[in-house]
Amino acid sequence: MAGRRFTALTLVAAAAAAPLHAAPPPLPKDAEIEKMVAAVSAARIEARIRKLVSFETRNTLSETQSETRGIGAARRWIKAELEQCAADSGKRLTVEFDEHLAPVSARIPKPTPVVNMVATLPGARAEHRDRVFVVSGHYDSMRSTPVAADGLAPGANDDGSGTAVVMELACVMARHAFDATLVFMTVAGEEQGLLGATSYARAAKARGVNIEGMITNDIVGNSRAADGTVVNDRMRVFAEGVPPAREMSEETQLLVRTGGENDSGPRQLGRHVKAAQEAYVPGFKVDLIYRRDRYLRGGDHFPFLDLGYPALRFTEYVEDFRHQHQDVREENGVRYGDLPEFVDFAYAANVARVNLATLATLARAPAPPAEVQMENFFLENNTTLRWKAAADPRVTGYRVLWRDTAHPFWQHHQDVGRVERTTVVGVSKDNVVFGLQALDKAGNASVAVFPKPLRR
Ligand SMILES: [Zn+2]
Repeated sequence: MAGRRFTALTLVAAAAAAPLHAAPPPLPKDAEIEKMVAAVSAARIEARIRKLVSFETRNTLSETQSETRGIGAARRWIKAELEQCAADSGKRLTVEFDEHLAPVSARIPKPTPVVNMVATLPGARAEHRDRVFVVSGHYDSMRSTPVAADGLAPGANDDGSGTAVVMELACVMARHAFDATLVFMTVAGEEQGLLGATSYARAAKARGVNIEGMITNDIVGNSRAADGTVVNDRMRVFAEGVPPAREMSEETQLLVRTGGENDSGPRQLGRHVKAAQEAYVPGFKVDLIYRRDRYLRGGDHFPFLDLGYPALRFTEYVEDFRHQHQDVREENGVRYGDLPEFVDFAYAANVARVNLATLATLARAPAPPAEVQMENFFLENNTTLRWKAAADPRVTGYRVLWRDTAHPFWQHHQDVGRVERTTVVGVSKDNVVFGLQALDKAGNASVAVFPKPLRR
């Protein structure tokens, strides 16, 4: 819109900042978000997990006609629950099935409908409505093999926990308004090869949907390892750096050439998750893991990552593999199977709170700044960033962030007004990593953006 304005304002701003280059402040507290976080209920999460388990199996290949058993009954129940939440909250939440027919593949012996349940809370402000955040869990389950259509596959933790967390988020958040659009999704076909999530992500990409962030909650309810170790005060957030593509995109090359491999979209989003947890769920911890996922594992964030969307996986800190992907049985006195008695509902509720704080803060914050660049015009010890000022009138300024290249989190900041260029005097871009956030009047900050090098 407005032309670029290169002013000397920047030096003045640098001189006025006190204390100079301090650590960035925590996220501002929003009383309404605090209320929402407090409203998350472990008891409701428990009740929903037990109900999901009551369908005996939710395998994608299981029967769909019964009203009490199999994946068809499970998804109709999920939809009815969310429709009830929509009705209780002014009907702004829309609930629909998103179905496709999966062709025969390694884990699909015959063409099978894969049905996602998608609940959408449209952004309350027109100019933010096309900014979309997706939070997901998979409601399908499996026994020891994913192609066993029958037999008990309770899936209490994998991924009844993620499904119940998403349902709780939808029901609590639908009572409130957010600038950006929130999509609460429970998908099928995860155990068959991420089929539901892949179908949704591809359709979104084809429609040009601006997904600013995606979170999959998968296995978020266990707090006890097989050796008895209990870790109930922290969760893991897996955030990819450089995507493992055969050929690097131009975008990735720019990152890697300038030491930005820890500043991909998912890593910036992951830093926001940690900041949201610190502000709203104290006493709980987010361990940000600079990795796509655990070894030998995958999840519904993969198709989103592969299409260039910033996506994360939320997972419990310690896993007990006797209660994942196992036929329900007893062997040498050990109980196998993914049963509700092995789920820590209070823990899953804390994971839900971290989701809620993340989504609510982002959906009320400005969009990330656009066209963020770092001037590379000559050799110097100062650093100059430029960007395109937002059309959004609520953006009141920008925050320049930086940290040592080997440090995982932002260490310093300098706030500037509604300008389009600033110089950080005496801090060399050769020695640190920079990022830029957009700010509103309340101090809500967007996800940070890594500046692309700009040469004359
Ligand atoms: Zn899973």
